[in-house]
Amino acid sequence: MDYVLHYNIAAIVISLLVIVLFFSRKFFPVASNKYYAFMGVFVAFSSFCDILCSLSFMGKINYNPVSFSLIFGGYFAGSILCALSFALYTMALVEDKMGSDAQSIKIIIAALSVFAIITYPLSQITKMYFYMDNEGYHHGPFIWSFYGILAVGMAIVLYTLVRYGKFLTKRQRAAAYFALIIVILSIVFQAIFDKIPISNFANALVFMVVLHTLQNSRDYTNYKLSLFDDTAFYLQIDNYIRANKSFYVLCFDLEGVGFLEQTMGPEARTELLEHFGRECKENLEGMLFYLGGTRFAYIFDSTRKEAIEKYAEWLNWRVMTPYRVKGIKVTLSIRIAVAEYGNEINDRETFINSLRYALREAKNKASQEIVWASDKMIESYQRYRDIVHVLKKQIVEKSFMVFYQPIYCAATGKFSAAEALIRLYDEKMGFVPPDEFIPIAESNGLIIEIGEIVFRKVCDFLSHEGSELGIDYIEVNLSMLQCMQEDLHKTLIEIMDEYGISYDKIDFEITETFSLTDQNILIKNMNALISAGSSFAMDDYGTGFSNTEYLIKYPFKLVKLDKIFIWDAMKDDKAMKILEHTVAMIKSLDIQIVAEGVETKEQAGLLMGMGCDFLQGFLYSKPLQKELYIQFLKNDGNVNQ
Ligand code: C2E
Ligand code: CA
Ligand code: CA
Repeated sequence: MDYVLHYNIAAIVISLLVIVLFFSRKFFPVASNKYYAFMGVFVAFSSFCDILCSLSFMGKINYNPVSFSLIFGGYFAGSILCALSFALYTMALVEDKMGSDAQSIKIIIAALSVFAIITYPLSQITKMYFYMDNEGYHHGPFIWSFYGILAVGMAIVLYTLVRYGKFLTKRQRAAAYFALIIVILSIVFQAIFDKIPISNFANALVFMVVLHTLQNSRDYTNYKLSLFDDTAFYLQIDNYIRANKSFYVLCFDLEGVGFLEQTMGPEARTELLEHFGRECKENLEGMLFYLGGTRFAYIFDSTRKEAIEKYAEWLNWRVMTPYRVKGIKVTLSIRIAVAEYGNEINDRETFINSLRYALREAKNKASQEIVWASDKMIESYQRYRDIVHVLKKQIVEKSFMVFYQPIYCAATGKFSAAEALIRLYDEKMGFVPPDEFIPIAESNGLIIEIGEIVFRKVCDFLSHEGSELGIDYIEVNLSMLQCMQEDLHKTLIEIMDEYGISYDKIDFEITETFSLTDQNILIKNMNALISAGSSFAMDDYGTGFSNTEYLIKYPFKLVKLDKIFIWDAMKDDKAMKILEHTVAMIKSLDIQIVAEGVETKEQAGLLMGMGCDFLQGFLYSKPLQKELYIQFLKNDGNVNQ
């Protein structure tokens, strides 16, 4: 029977094709990719040597003994290296789980590889496996060892799959077992029918079909943007951490893309991100990762610290020129955060959280400066998470407390109103100030549920004690996020109905930041509640952008002067003039005034003299727990606190 060459030719064609396809794509330099490429090269090489040898056995070419030994040895060594690469490839898929196991197996593989590369091509001299003499070709005494080494390779694959296969997905596991079975069958077949060299062909098929399935599910690329994805990013971080190296991550977020998506759809957004990614790759060295959303990252090793500033500079400079996408001019801005691993921060989770936190900080900054993640930042991130946790817990338990700060009425000398102020108490954290947790609750939308809980508590209190204590109304703070809910008025009216309290018992306080949001929804909510009988107060007047326009535009019954505005006036003549004129101006609009932060009798006298209708502050009382507030009212403003 003649030697069959077709299988080897097909094996070469297949493996070369896959190699070309593989390298034509960008690939992420993880170990599994490296071994995958090795396998292809060794299949092609060993098939090639096999063809040359078969031609010699068929008498079509004659080699001298040394060349024959090199070529035939090349075939053996190539096949062995291919099998061992397969073993390394399988191990690389679960490398992070194998720990020290991997190290010792790699030593065995390295030893076997070196042994094969040296001994097989030298067989003509050692006569270990085969040799040629005048009578022709002879087997050596150790020819069987070829199958022995292949068996070791396959045993490593089997061991890895049995022991660590659970860390692969079902599909990956099935593909790997299938590959193993095909390779083993082909080796057995080859051992029996040595004139039909099918093992390389089988290897090539395994290489192409089965491992390609494995490979594709792990190629770490975002195809739309042709950038490495977030899995690659975390993997690279793990590689650095495992190698005990310190490194930097520069992470950036593009702002202004959302608008494009809203107006032109998601394709326009992808087009812009792709364009941006391409420009980065053209101008900045190194691997760019796309982390999802509008976030990207570069990783620098510790020797390249100076590059960070340069990269940030280039990024900032680039976004200064608008992009054109589908005929639309898009102006972007960029937020940059950098975190260093290895100095202050040296555990993975803290590092990733700190990066996230630094990026959030960067977004809160007015300018586009780089924010470096720091220890402090991690602490505040921890606290942020703790607060969110407590907020969520207390929303479920409805355990927020509501305190009441009495409001003094200048005309009657009575405490006819109060402001409801939320309190958050947690056993571990103690009292968390509202100025700290309200912005957090606003940033993630929890304030909507919290606001409702507070409102229910106020209504419950009024329905039980309100009339008996002679309370005219309670002031309830509404967050702007609540006011942006289209059905806010319905919800609030339903709650008031549920507790059977009359609508005029509530005055809602809102702050002037509403200039930033959808005014129509706000106006609708205000009008619906006002026509029901409730009223509105503009809170914190005199801070930020006090805009008299809002007093004209919105139906406020009350204005609350901010405590800082009042305290400043007490210290400075000019500020006092402004305060006086402000009070007069507001009064002339028929709007009542509450002065906040009244701490001394002198302040009270001055403010009442100017014409403030109501006074609120520590002079009269701090915010009080419900029971103490009731006692306060019953004692007509005197309470043993
Ligand atoms: P705000 O609406 O301006 O509330 C007045 C704040 O001034 C309260 O702080 C009150 O305790 C404090 N205050 C009153 N008189 C004096 C005084 O004489 N001296 C000093 N130093 N402070 C005084 P608090 O309770 O810490 O609340 C802070 C902020 O948290 C509130 O500012 C309000 O914006 C927000 N907040 C509180 N409760 C709620 C709520 O239920 N919902 C919403 N959306 N926000 C709330
Ligand atoms: Ca208020
Ligand atoms: Ca206020």
